[in-house]
Amino acid sequence: MATSVDRKLKIVRTREELRDALGSAPRPVGLVPTMGWLHPGHVSLVERARADSATVVVSIFVNPRQFGQREDFAKYPRNEARDLEACEAAGVDIVFSPTVDEVYPPGFDTTVSIGAVGQPLEGAARPGHFEGVATVVAVLFALVGADRAYFGQKDAQQVMVVRRMAIDLALPTDVIACPTVREADGLALSSRNVHLSAAEREAAPILHRALLAARSRWAAGERSAKTLRQVMSDELALEPLAKVEYTSVADGQTLRELARVDGAALLSLAVRFGSTRLIDNEPLP
Ligand code: AMP
Repeated sequence: MATSVDRKLKIVRTREELRDALGSAPRPVGLVPTMGWLHPGHVSLVERARADSATVVVSIFVNPRQFGQREDFAKYPRNEARDLEACEAAGVDIVFSPTVDEVYPPGFDTTVSIGAVGQPLEGAARPGHFEGVATVVAVLFALVGADRAYFGQKDAQQVMVVRRMAIDLALPTDVIACPTVREADGLALSSRNVHLSAAEREAAPILHRALLAARSRWAAGERSAKTLRQVMSDELALEPLAKVEYTSVADGQTLRELARVDGAALLSLAVRFGSTRLIDNEPLP
């Protein structure tokens, strides 16, 4: 039976404060890495961590190393006060909200190099992105020493890259993937949705509709990956504000583009609305 526990949220900003806070914290420890501007998608990861763990740590860090030169690091939305309220309400024990120098102290000179699973899709569209993600996640895993860390399926390739890294580098943290949380109209929650204009916001559910259109063709027996990609493109073409970057039907393990869908696969796409870039995906089966 669930018991109510009187928890007080600790906010720590330095490596040392984090070490002190974790020193007396009961295990297992669950970590939810975020870039802040928390929404119910993040909260769903915290809830899963809460259910599994004696101590829940949320990191809030907009990681400059995972943004490209022409990307939106400077305008990435930030509101720590609101994020802390959300963490408190969700029963988080420790929030780690460090500065860039605290994560990457002067002299920091190491980057995690990513293998094949990080090369296509987001890896190709955003050179250096996954190296930046893997590097910060390696630092966070080392600092927190969590038993498990929770990531969203919304960033499906990110989960695969991070899981591969954690296994290959023998990091003691298990990577858990959690389902994508969506708005009622199907739009996957994302911190970047805040940048959509009213018209773009109205158009944005086309991503999910395109994925569902391909899924239902697959469910009806279509196995040609080319046809399924075309189904997504045709659906997206109905929306003039949507500028398609890619549509993909890839192997569910390797993320290599498929000719035929015979086993586990990932439908995914990246679409721009003005300067806002959105991604979404749907695993098959
Ligand atoms: P971010 O703050 O965007 O870096 O996201 C932090 C974590 O939340 C990542 O593991 C994301 O995959 C996850 N996440 C973001 N959006 C969603 C969503 N709509 N549903 C579930 N998880 C999400």
